[in-house]
Amino acid sequence: MTNWQEVESKYYMQISPRTPLTLVKGKGARVWDDAGKEYLDFVAGWAVDSLGHCHPAVVEAVTRQANTLIQTSNQFYTVPQLQLSQLLVEHSCLNRVYVCNSGAEANEGAVKLARRYGSLKLNGAYEVITAFNSFHGRTLAMTAATGQEKFHKPYLPLPIGFKNIPYNDMDAIKATTSVQTCAIMLEPIQGEGGVNIPADDYLKKVRQWCDEKGIVLILDEIQTGIGRLGTLFGYEQYGIEPDIMTLAKGLGSGVPVGAFMAKEKFCVFAAGEHGSTYGGNALTSAAAYATVKYIIDNDIAGNAKKVGEYLMKALILLKTKYPFITEVRGRGLLAAIEFNSDIGADLLTACLEGGLLVNRVKPNALRLMPPLIITNREVDEAIDILDKALSALAKKGVK
Ligand SMILES: *Cc1c(COP(=O)(O)O)cnc(C)c1O
Repeated sequence: MTNWQEVESKYYMQISPRTPLTLVKGKGARVWDDAGKEYLDFVAGWAVDSLGHCHPAVVEAVTRQANTLIQTSNQFYTVPQLQLSQLLVEHSCLNRVYVCNSGAEANEGAVKLARRYGSLKLNGAYEVITAFNSFHGRTLAMTAATGQEKFHKPYLPLPIGFKNIPYNDMDAIKATTSVQTCAIMLEPIQGEGGVNIPADDYLKKVRQWCDEKGIVLILDEIQTGIGRLGTLFGYEQYGIEPDIMTLAKGLGSGVPVGAFMAKEKFCVFAAGEHGSTYGGNALTSAAAYATVKYIIDNDIAGNAKKVGEYLMKALILLKTKYPFITEVRGRGLLAAIEFNSDIGADLLTACLEGGLLVNRVKPNALRLMPPLIITNREVDEAIDILDKALSALAKKGVK
């Protein structure tokens, strides 16, 4: 049997710190490694596989579209891109869509749109305020937008025009807003930064501030959107509407696709001012359309809410059982467990042995983000594995 991990170490750029596991097959909330061992997948491609692995609706759409038409460029009209766009607009507060290929690219488009708005309507204002511990992607500009020094350091100097401020801190936003500010860009819940949930009224206050100053509110819903938090979009839970919103991750249930959406007033790109060769490609759009349609038609966001609450109750019980758990938090099916020491890696390994995939979001925290189609029974199974892994660590002296 080929040792693919050796092949990786020899031929692949040594960038991704990987869990030593070669996955070859997936179905629903489960995956299998090359030795045939089965795992419950609470990583889901980093909150991407919204309908789980190889969902029939997605497989059918991709197969059908691959046999019909794959790529044409945006020189022409194609049907799946427009079906997807209509569906997203009809179920959101935004008026127009531009489909692209990834999250970082969606955010790039959103920031370019806000800058264009700034140049046309705000006397050339171009700065975008973003938060510490945010994550907005890996392009150079989104590296600057991402408020984490570890991502900045290797690439200095970074593109200008981004101001990082503390999350969930309205005063910091007020103090940093200037005549140069064109937009504020935030995640409704910070995902990669550790599942950080802001105060209930934070986004409402930010919304009011943006209205007062006439600046653009961009919500990066790449991780929180498409049902993850228990509503189709995260903003619905805060009683506000963004001016621009970005999507990716769960949008294509594993097929690489992103999008940015905007209210009519902010759709200020003139013809040719932005573009993409593959963006809105028929194949990926068909996957996204099938995903979003299935999620809406079957209230999969409702399932995320219901099962998410069930998961949270179980996590709270674990917290009472293991005093070294300092906090459990989450919304819908995006959750984190935090510990009083850096046991994330050991716990991940113990979960792996038990047959559960989790993400170590910080040295002292795990992130859980299963497919949105997950059931209470599968949660029971995962909690059981987690419980045994925690118990094994407790026996080894973790307290
Ligand atoms: C993952 C993520 C991105 C980047 O998406 P890519 O597809 O990796 O470029 C941006 N913002 C948020 C909130 C994300 O979770």
